[in-house]
Amino acid sequence: MLSLFYHPIYTDGIDPQARFPRDRYRLLAERLTEFSKIELCEPRKSTRTELLVAHDVDYVDRFLRGALTEQETRHIGLRPWTTDIAARTLHIMGGSLQALELVLEHGGLAGNMAGGTHHAFADHGSGYCIFNDLAICALQALQSPNIKHVLILDLDVHQGDGTASILSGHPDVVTCSIHGDKNFPFVKQRSDLDIALPNDTGDIAYLDALESALEYLPISDFDLLLYQAGVDPLQEDRLGRLAVTRDGLDRRNRRVFESAHAAGVPTVIFMGGGYAEPITPTIDAFVDLFTTASEYS
Ligand SMILES: [Zn+2]
Repeated sequence: MLSLFYHPIYTDGIDPQARFPRDRYRLLAERLTEFSKIELCEPRKSTRTELLVAHDVDYVDRFLRGALTEQETRHIGLRPWTTDIAARTLHIMGGSLQALELVLEHGGLAGNMAGGTHHAFADHGSGYCIFNDLAICALQALQSPNIKHVLILDLDVHQGDGTASILSGHPDVVTCSIHGDKNFPFVKQRSDLDIALPNDTGDIAYLDALESALEYLPISDFDLLLYQAGVDPLQEDRLGRLAVTRDGLDRRNRRVFESAHAAGVPTVIFMGGGYAEPITPTIDAFVDLFTTASEYS
């Protein structure tokens, strides 16, 4: 059984006027209820203390008070912000932390049907990301006595710049990002391993890049895998440009799950990006992600 954290506020906490495809969460939840091996679980809200594991106190408190500047909220997007933006954000961070708690206790796989907010830096948000759940979970996990080395594998089409920045001084957390070179963020940060791919890469070269990353950073060397599984490399994606097919993405996910499963490495799945218009190909790819994960859980 794959436990997947989801709350209706993931969709409802975003204004219908926002450019962001808010319906993807609701549509995906509807599709996934058909699968008997997937259990949707309601997340708790994360606490302020949990956010401070990876974020500056001034930024956290100004966000929670609703006191970010116009420039700061513009940099994040998701606008116009609803009155539920803080509750939504805290539930998403809570969902990631609860998925982490599950795998730390029981091993195997668990996921959040949102999150993977890799563009959030310690003191500011960016690109639809307010707080960085990957960094929060990595640093939180290191407080557990059995977790000494964490791998963050970020296969979203956009570079995990915020994650790389927050974790640059933390040798126990290794960051790997495979992303589009000519894509947002246009100023990249330095992960421990970055593989920048050209536009129209396609399945074969994309999967080759993953192989070389896993050769350099075998999942079996780590105690925990945090997998940012964005499906925006998809050829139909409005922001993607890498021309990877639905089948190519499924093979990517299987490769990661197989490797983690064979090594017995607990794994948290973060949903990440996906922006096809209409949204159906993105939803299909996310259905594949989580149903394939359920085969390994
Ligand atoms: Zn993305």
